[in-house]
Amino acid sequence: MRIAVARETRQGEARVAVVPELVGKLTTLGYEVLVEPEAGHHALIADREYAEAGASVDADALAVADVVVSVQPLPTASIRRLRPGAATISFLPTQQEPDAVRDLRDCGVTSFAMELVPRISRAQSMDALSSQALVAGYRCAIVAAGMLRRFFPLNMTAAGTVPPAEVVVLGAGVAGLQAIATARRLGAVVKAYDVRAAAAEEIRSVGAQSIDLELETLEGSGGYAREMTEDRAARQRELLTPYIAAADALITTAAVPGRQAPVLVTRQMVEQMGPGAVVVDLAAESGGNVQGSEPGEVVRIGDAQVWGGRNVPSQMPGPASRLYAQNVVNLVALMTREEDGEVRFAPDFDDEIVAGACVTHDGAIRHEPTRLALEGESA
Ligand code: NAD
Repeated sequence: MRIAVARETRQGEARVAVVPELVGKLTTLGYEVLVEPEAGHHALIADREYAEAGASVDADALAVADVVVSVQPLPTASIRRLRPGAATISFLPTQQEPDAVRDLRDCGVTSFAMELVPRISRAQSMDALSSQALVAGYRCAIVAAGMLRRFFPLNMTAAGTVPPAEVVVLGAGVAGLQAIATARRLGAVVKAYDVRAAAAEEIRSVGAQSIDLELETLEGSGGYAREMTEDRAARQRELLTPYIAAADALITTAAVPGRQAPVLVTRQMVEQMGPGAVVVDLAAESGGNVQGSEPGEVVRIGDAQVWGGRNVPSQMPGPASRLYAQNVVNLVALMTREEDGEVRFAPDFDDEIVAGACVTHDGAIRHEPTRLALEGESA
């Protein structure tokens, strides 16, 4: 069985799906590991390191592989080069990438989407949403600290006392909690808000004050949030306004699965922030938690600089790749069997992790919401 590590071709994607440290784990499973030339280039990993770890660097890796792993979905040209019956493992946001899904279906590829791996305890080691959110949350706090032209920590010096920065974090899931923990480690005073009741305790456990707006909490299924009604959203914005006006830095990380990011902060709210204030909107790419934020740009709103995130985990490609590679290799291991002394990539579709993550198989779309969306489109 051959597994190929693709070179990412999307602009701005610096990660790689397997790092040299994990090549040995794949060879132990029984795979021959092939790597496209320069696959690790943007993550500062040389071809030589893959070769030293036991992989072959091969420009034809995709065409001969049984399984191809990547971070972003493969481009059409690469999908068409795959062997019939080959499998792919990557992020595959099916709503945003309907063409990739159709290509994978039409080429008879069995595709797995890392973001569809069910977030159950048994699948924690394959949870790439969490591993990448952890990187993104850390990065958001560092960006805020870097942009803010003042100290995060309290400084008591012979020349006087400098008060700590005040940071507000909205959305305290995996990324938000990591942003809080990082800002706290840098010494800022942090307040945070999330619509889920369970988040309050988690916010306190990483050293921040949990903002209690005395609004109804919004638990959805699987530990996620539910969407707000417009009335509740307006009330939430009104109640959050004084916290945001008083903050030196605001970091927003709120998301609702399958929906545009909720707008938590209007332009008018940002305009009330003081001179030099900094806003970091991790959700800028999915619509934005902050009105007016632009993915990959810094825009000025009032006196504040507003930084919009775009593929934020890719800004730390080394660690993000290492974590992602662990997730991918664990998923590959789950789908690998030894039969009659022969190693096979043999997904067991009765396993809820495998079934949940599969998008296309045998010329059909198996992920029901995607199938319905694409059929609806063509009807
Ligand atoms: P996410 O990226 O979907 O959302 C980020 C955060 O935004 C969530 O905490 C959500 O409650 C919050 N949010 C949504 N609307 C908001 C609003 N209007 N105002 C303020 N905050 C809002 O979520 P995530 O970080 O991927 O995960 C969220 C939670 O899911 C985790 O904290 C955990 O409880 C659970 N989870 C479980 C597992 C597991 O069991 N393996 C894995 C990952 C996450």
